[in-house]
Amino acid sequence: MNTNANTAPSETRTLGHFIGGSLCQGASGRSGPLFNPATGQVSARVSFASRTETDAAVAAAREALAGWAQTPPLRRARVMFRFKALLDEHIDGLAKLITSEHGKVLSDARGEVTRGMEVVEFACGIPHLLKGEFSDNVGRGIDCWSLRQPVGVCVGIAPFNFPAMVPMWMFPIALACGNTFVLKPSEKDPSCALKLAELLAEAGLPPGVFNVLNGDRESVDALITHEDVAAVSFVGSTPIAQHIYETAARHGKRVQALGGAKNHMVVMPDAEPSLAAQALMGAAYGSAGERCMAISVAVAVGDAGDRLVEALKPMIAALKIGAGTTDDVEMGPLVTREHRERVRSYIDLGVQEGAKMVVDGRQHKLSGEQGFYLGPTLFDGVEPHMRIYKEEIFGPVLIIVRAPNLSSALKLVNEHEFGNGTSIFTSSGDAARTFVHEVQAGMVGVNVPIPVPMAFHSFGGWKRSLFGDLHVHGSDGVRFYTRLKTVTSRWPSGMRGGSEYVLPTMK
Ligand code: NAD
Repeated sequence: MNTNANTAPSETRTLGHFIGGSLCQGASGRSGPLFNPATGQVSARVSFASRTETDAAVAAAREALAGWAQTPPLRRARVMFRFKALLDEHIDGLAKLITSEHGKVLSDARGEVTRGMEVVEFACGIPHLLKGEFSDNVGRGIDCWSLRQPVGVCVGIAPFNFPAMVPMWMFPIALACGNTFVLKPSEKDPSCALKLAELLAEAGLPPGVFNVLNGDRESVDALITHEDVAAVSFVGSTPIAQHIYETAARHGKRVQALGGAKNHMVVMPDAEPSLAAQALMGAAYGSAGERCMAISVAVAVGDAGDRLVEALKPMIAALKIGAGTTDDVEMGPLVTREHRERVRSYIDLGVQEGAKMVVDGRQHKLSGEQGFYLGPTLFDGVEPHMRIYKEEIFGPVLIIVRAPNLSSALKLVNEHEFGNGTSIFTSSGDAARTFVHEVQAGMVGVNVPIPVPMAFHSFGGWKRSLFGDLHVHGSDGVRFYTRLKTVTSRWPSGMRGGSEYVLPTMK
């Protein structure tokens, strides 16, 4: 094991894995480039694990399982407390790592670490969360009780857009519940995951309990079909989520696979236009639109549309774009050149489809730069049949669809294939209540543009935004990472002689 695998000079640096308690170099001979999105330059490379390395990571997790599962929950929680303290100490360094590979602005990167830390805080309460239920004297001298036990070796596969927060949706609860874990971060920004592994080790987590395996499709497919893996959490695009869900489930795994989104914000005519526009700015262009909870569609009801467009135009013109490390910058570059070109091609498509261009991000002065910048784009007059409405763009592109009334706005949201998050801006309690009650989405905001649930609630979408039954973190997270066992017991004083040949009915 080479513990310097993550600290060699940047020109030659190739990130490896974290297996069995230490950093190690990749041995597959396969790797991919890592970019600084603000400059467009290659900053390092990341190894792609082979089948043998995947087996080694799962073997390390399997070996550590018995000891960790037997460790009392209180002691597991204490490791989480120490991990939380280390996250506090290292938040700036983690944020810098995220900005250097993802491109989002530093304050936003810090924000995502904080949202991940909140799940760690939740996991610190694991002794309470694992308490079972007990029924005394369900029959004469018979008690019935339940307990939750770890599922085994768990795998997490993460997307590029939240390199700290999404893994921390998964592993703090998995570990606190007594499981061991193999994390496969995005190959676009894997440094943060390796740092988290080092902090967990420093917090006292035994070797092998948490492992990081870098890689691409090859290692993912090996992990989700591995006979020693019990559960798979995936977050990423919908086609891959569906593939992961179907393949892992076919191989007997417990799976939760969170997919893509097209989040609508309904703006009612009674909403204050400047407040709705301000909310839309952050929700659509924050993190360059690379958020699964970003608002990418504004549904303007009645005469709200024109006022909204007029309020948005000067705000878009004033948006500060640049390297995420620069003070006061509000929107950084996109993650890779390839992704920027994909988003740009959707803007081209919107023009071809006949949407009305209000602000063209392709014309922004930074759009031709070496860094992966693309200005904010606003389309109005978008129709539901257009591909720019149907498909997830995942960039700084906001589209406006007009709707005559609340019920037609609701119909739009409900008929869309995705159902991750949605929100309504209104001053009418009646409209808000109808919306909350009838909308087909997993997370709903009322005058809150990005309704991401707190760590002690659960996060997840509906329809093709989630495959599987359970959402992430909160009580669903505890359910996902544990198996329920229900015990019926009696002791000699409660026993009656004789055999019973019919189902006992506890008279
Ligand atoms: P992605 O689907 O391309 O990649 C996600 C993970 O899957 C990565 O670790 C990647 O290495 C792996 N992967 C990619 N192709 C694969 C293949 N063919 N077989 C097996 N594994 C493969 O997603 P991304 O571009 O990294 O992230 C953006 C997407 O994630 C968006 O669609 C966004 O909406 C979604 N997302 C959803 C949520 C949510 O909570 N629903 C949260 C964050 C991101």
